[in-house]
Amino acid sequence: MKIFQLPEHPLALIFDMDGTLYTHDEYMRSQIDLPVKKLAALQGKSFAEMQKLIKDYQDDWSAQHSGKGISLGNTFKNFDVSIEESIRWREMLYEPERYLTRDPQLCETLRVLAASCKLAVVTNNPVSIARRTLACLGADEYIPLVIGLDTCKVSKPHEAPFRRAAKLCGAPINACIAVGDRYEIDISLPLEMGMGGILVDGVKDVYELPYIHTSFT
Ligand SMILES: [Mg+2]
Repeated sequence: MKIFQLPEHPLALIFDMDGTLYTHDEYMRSQIDLPVKKLAALQGKSFAEMQKLIKDYQDDWSAQHSGKGISLGNTFKNFDVSIEESIRWREMLYEPERYLTRDPQLCETLRVLAASCKLAVVTNNPVSIARRTLACLGADEYIPLVIGLDTCKVSKPHEAPFRRAAKLCGAPINACIAVGDRYEIDISLPLEMGMGGILVDGVKDVYELPYIHTSFT
């Protein structure tokens, strides 16, 4: 876990979903492989060819942007798949119910955090997938606010979903903390905006959050 510029009195925790509120390599892998397979079929290419084209594009993009990463949604735009189309594909292809089960330790963690902060999820998946994911984890009731790819029609890192989350939480930007597993996608921009940030290495780090700030317990 890495902690950046936490506010003295946090009012909102804005979580990434995948790789943050659960850790499941196979499900995470499927979220990349399934749309890439669909794109390969559409463009008459093999899965391996499409994987290479995407990797080459992402490597080039990164080299031209000081080593930063690019989301799959933004990558797909370069292959003529609009954000609207990405949303439909994800709703059709992703199956959190196949992989995820109730996580009592996460539920207890969120219950404790919700006593002092508003909790929200900002995700590059559609809201419906995030809600199904939270339902699988048993955590739906603790996170009333989900901002998805279909809410602002832009993919993280982008200010719009973070500003929307802060507003819906009723919290000033500088009283929010972004929590996520990818620095360039989840943390870097919120820090520039004036939020705090916590980079986690999976859900096991989320279990520790109640102990990292005196106002959480
Ligand atoms: Mg993530």
